[in-house]
Amino acid sequence: MYIVVIGGSESGTGAAILAQQQGHVVFVSDAATILDKYKQKLIAHNIPYEENQHSWDKIENAQLIIKSPGVPEKTELIQKIRSIGIPIISEVEWAYRYAQQSNIIAITGSNGKSTTTALTTHLLQSEDMAMVGNIGISFAETVALNPKKYYVAEVSSFQLDDIHLFKPKVSVLLNITPDHLDRYQYDVKLYAKAKFNIISNQDVSDYFIYNVDSPLLMHHLPLYLNQQVNPVTITLKNAFQSEQGACVQNENLCFLWQKNLYKIPIHELPLQGKHNQYNIMASILAALCVGANWEDIIQKLPSFTAIPHRMEKVRVFNGITFINDSKATNVDSVWYALDSMIQPVIWIAGGIDKGNDYAQIKELVKNKVKAIICMTKYPENIQKAFSDLNIPIVVVDSPRNAIQQSLAFASVNDVVLLSPACASFDLFKNYEDRGMQFKDAVLLL
Ligand code: ADP
Repeated sequence: MYIVVIGGSESGTGAAILAQQQGHVVFVSDAATILDKYKQKLIAHNIPYEENQHSWDKIENAQLIIKSPGVPEKTELIQKIRSIGIPIISEVEWAYRYAQQSNIIAITGSNGKSTTTALTTHLLQSEDMAMVGNIGISFAETVALNPKKYYVAEVSSFQLDDIHLFKPKVSVLLNITPDHLDRYQYDVKLYAKAKFNIISNQDVSDYFIYNVDSPLLMHHLPLYLNQQVNPVTITLKNAFQSEQGACVQNENLCFLWQKNLYKIPIHELPLQGKHNQYNIMASILAALCVGANWEDIIQKLPSFTAIPHRMEKVRVFNGITFINDSKATNVDSVWYALDSMIQPVIWIAGGIDKGNDYAQIKELVKNKVKAIICMTKYPENIQKAFSDLNIPIVVVDSPRNAIQQSLAFASVNDVVLLSPACASFDLFKNYEDRGMQFKDAVLLL
């Protein structure tokens, strides 16, 4: 078959390597410059590619298009391909076609995907298991070069957009809050539909772990719930919401699994914050769904540490704690960050605002925040949203200045929290760059 892969980064390169290995003729086309790291891989596998352009004569004859998650549906090229009827699939779908004998745990949601993926992997760690997907490791490339019996796959809505057969053994839907709406015609229904694609092929032998406390998720659930799949619910309420699942009772996370009841005291959890209680519940249940035993899980859980840029404690300096939550790129994740704070907070926020509604966190900001440091070229929305709270709001253009300004407001036992609620592209390459620069500046104090 002649296959064209659109996009030459982690997913696209991986998809091309798998296609080549399976004996297909493959061509990679990218509208931007392909990073050296990926060019070298393509060259090593003898895969032809083009960059900074899409040559229609090389694309129009394709029998299958594999679209990278970064390529929006609305681009002219994708529209043109659709108009002539060439099938388009995602890299996750492509990888799945050659991994149907494996057990896949697929994890999605608006927030918490990476944490839950990393924790589930930690709980199941074995020679025969790999962590793949949106977390930065191509699923298709792993299937091609290092196939496993178990995969823990982080899948974004974009990766779920073009799936047809993808059938995980366990699917996890952590929550749905408005995000990435620019890619879904500003219609939350379309975004929710992409998320629910994760269960579209599941059956009686599969499990669906979902959060009954997420209002948008529950609102859309009846439209998509596949009646065959085994439901496993998570909630912070004090009663189980299905025959198998997790809830909170008397300061314990409680699990009901195959009619057994298990408990973990909340103060013993390796990650703080209510959001992490959901992530931990989902990870433990996912591990149970693929046959892990409780004793093993309990033994491994304490050694899990937070992944970088998610509520990562950087340092205590002069009694002030600095936390890097650079990955908090929407308002919902900042809600959880502020909610978990017991000390007064100097809040560093701002960046590219994807249409944020700050009303959701106003009460928390009022009660917990001593000063707001806007680290962005575009502070207007934050200034406007919080100007009536009588909290100082300062605008800065670098992590160094943000930290200097924070020190002017912070006293012993306060927290300086970078949790921006926004994308980073006004001042930084990406959220990792923002988090690294923040950490470097803190460590220089
Ligand atoms: P994702 O991969 O979905 O972006 P991460 O695990 O990287 O999720 O976390 C992103 C941000 O969201 C972090 O700021 C984190 O503190 C916050 N967060 C993590 N889990 C949740 C959750 N279950 N609900 C809401 N916010 C969360």
